[in-house]
Amino acid sequence: MSTEAHTPRSVLVTGGNRGIGLAIAKAFAAIGDKVAVTYRTPTELPEGILGVQADVTDEASIDRAFTEVEAAHGPVEVLVANAGITKDTLLLRMSEDDFTSVLDTNLTGAFRVVKRASKGMIRLRRGRVILISSVSGLYGAPGQINYSASKAGLVGLARSFTRELGSRGITANVVAPGFINTDMTAELPDETQKEYLSRVPAGRFADADEVANVVRWIASSEAAYISGAVIPVDGGLGMGH
Ligand code: NDP
Repeated sequence: MSTEAHTPRSVLVTGGNRGIGLAIAKAFAAIGDKVAVTYRTPTELPEGILGVQADVTDEASIDRAFTEVEAAHGPVEVLVANAGITKDTLLLRMSEDDFTSVLDTNLTGAFRVVKRASKGMIRLRRGRVILISSVSGLYGAPGQINYSASKAGLVGLARSFTRELGSRGITANVVAPGFINTDMTAELPDETQKEYLSRVPAGRFADADEVANVVRWIASSEAAYISGAVIPVDGGLGMGH
């Protein structure tokens, strides 16, 4: 991090009550930013982190959450669209609802929060949008046609956003984690976990902090000239795609 004095920013992380989102929220709070997280399920949060209830599939609840954050911390200057779900199954067993519900949360959910945040960022003439994708978005994964499609869609979102708003001091980037130890991956059968592990050149899975540190850096002034990029945090699994 730069040694310049840090001016606290209003940071919002969706799905920040646990897993990678919570690690990201803590990373920003540790450098003095004003951090809010959205939650669906009320959870005890670390001191100093503001919780606001929102479901990213519900535009009205997103608007209420932003209004709450703006009143407490000012306009959101750093948005991390992290909320995400999986509904893994092979194509022939995947229902249309399995597909559209994952898209609605992971991709349309990101669109909803990015749109809401961009109003304040345009006024501020600065901002950072970070979309949490997955190695699965560009690498693909059997059983994840819905999830991979949603995560690949985030790349197009960040790139078109950059072309629309890149001249206004706002960047949008995608962070693509590989296999991170969280509730989402704990649900996978042992055999699947072993299979993934055998493919990761780093020979291990990562902790959520290792994603959080990269997200924090992408949001820093040091990364002001990076936009529309996909940054892998995957131990070499996707080889930069
Ligand atoms: P978790 O399952 O541990 O947490 C998911 C978070 O998203 C929770 O806070 C959850 O809230 C929230 N969420 C889910 N649906 C909604 C919704 N409709 N509205 C609002 N919030 C919602 O996941 P991880 O921490 O592992 O993953 C975080 C992100 O990182 C996801 O986008 C995931 O796809 C991505 N990722 C994870 C990887 C991994 O290995 N773990 C690898 C690559 C990418 P609630 O507590 O209310 O359910």
